[in-house]
Amino acid sequence: MVSPVHFDCGSLCGAACCTCTSEEKDSMGIYLLPGEEKLFTRKESWLGWNSLDAEEYEFPDSWHGKVFFLDCKAKALCPRNRRPIQCRTFPLAPHIDEKGALVLIYQKGPLPYSCPLVSRRMKLNNDFVKATYTVWKHLIREPLIYDLIKMDSTYRLEDGEEIDILMP
Ligand code: SF4
Ligand code: SF4
Repeated sequence: MVSPVHFDCGSLCGAACCTCTSEEKDSMGIYLLPGEEKLFTRKESWLGWNSLDAEEYEFPDSWHGKVFFLDCKAKALCPRNRRPIQCRTFPLAPHIDEKGALVLIYQKGPLPYSCPLVSRRMKLNNDFVKATYTVWKHLIREPLIYDLIKMDSTYRLEDGEEIDILMP
């Protein structure tokens, strides 16, 4: 997959999205999408595995059983072509608009760090934007993933978050 910009954007922020810590956790991590765990061996030295019960956390009602949360042990040094999907498509996010259509937006929701690509609204690589839209268009055909994106989109609208659309 192509990169968001034509240079290493980690040089702008010390790879904040991979290295920052929060008050609750001493390292960053990422949730996997349903089924995404099958793309990993669980022996990756650069990832730590945690599983949660979907029913006990704020996931869509359609989700049942285990949800995987990965700790980023390598902090920005994980193999680029093996990163979880949501790492590959950041700082863009899929959003279902009021008409039920998929749009691609800058991820502006509450994060424990600031992404310069978003805060400075830097021009992103067109190929990255197009490829990211295509990836999410395919992914939301999976009902469990659609339900997550729909839930996040509804929260964004309810919270009055700015919806900054890049595509289409
Ligand atoms: S995506 Fe944003 S936060 Fe992550 S390394 Fe690039 S500029 Fe920094
Ligand atoms: S899995 Fe890798 S790319 Fe994703 S947030 Fe963690 S260190 Fe960064």
